[in-house]
Amino acid sequence: MPEPDIVLEAVDVVKRYGDVAALNGVSLALRRGELVALVGESGAGKSTLLRCFNRMVDPDRGVVLKDGRDLATLDPVAVRRATGYVQQEGGLLPHWRVRRNVALVPWLRGDADADATAARALDLVGLPAADVGDRWPRQLSGGQRQRVALARALAARPATLLLDEPFGALDAITRAELQAAFARLRRELGITTLLVTHDLREAALLADRVAVLRAGRLEQVAPAAELLAAPATDYVRRLVERAHLGAA
Ligand code: ADP
Ligand code: MG
Repeated sequence: MPEPDIVLEAVDVVKRYGDVAALNGVSLALRRGELVALVGESGAGKSTLLRCFNRMVDPDRGVVLKDGRDLATLDPVAVRRATGYVQQEGGLLPHWRVRRNVALVPWLRGDADADATAARALDLVGLPAADVGDRWPRQLSGGQRQRVALARALAARPATLLLDEPFGALDAITRAELQAAFARLRRELGITTLLVTHDLREAALLADRVAVLRAGRLEQVAPAAELLAAPATDYVRRLVERAHLGAA
């Protein structure tokens, strides 16, 4: 068997905040083009792990690798610009118009065609720049804001995407629309993606594999069907039951 092509990898990562072990020996590898959903309750350590992959968090122990290179040896700014990141609530700059928000990274890189790149990214998420480019973030609906945040991440033409509960704050209908749009987009782009969600159904819908994090430890990493068929722990079994994953 050839080695799988690993793009992102955390190896035995520990991160403490005072007495709290936010991550307590986490190992997780993402294969090229794969979408892994990281699922767990509030406080489980999901955001902390996600942020280890763009050096917004540096682990106390263990290593984080991108394409086999130790992130600790790479320039954090370069790492962040090469990594698409959508935080909870999107994180758009409120005093910048949509077009400029989306063009941020290409512009920082000095790309001459930053505006055209931004327009293409807005098209990808179904928001033509002609309609929304000149608006302020506050003039958008919640769902539109999250689409713009995704467009901004995509405009950087990232090799990897880190999405922290990108659909978390939306109403059920908008959320379902955005999930469907994202599923289509992902098949087109094939970007290696770590998606944080507290919703196991969303994880099952979008992910190739689901990683269940509980109190800083991974309980199981497997395709959703396998979590259902063979939960590794009682916790995973209860999680699957509560989410009614078996139901259609
Ligand atoms: P999740 O995203 O799963 O809700 P987090 O990764 O945000 O969880 O947090 C995991 C644990 O680490 C929590 O107990 C949280 O309070 C703590 N924590 C996270 N970031 C910090 C920080 N910057 N300072 C102190 N404690 C933190
Ligand atoms: Mg979080």
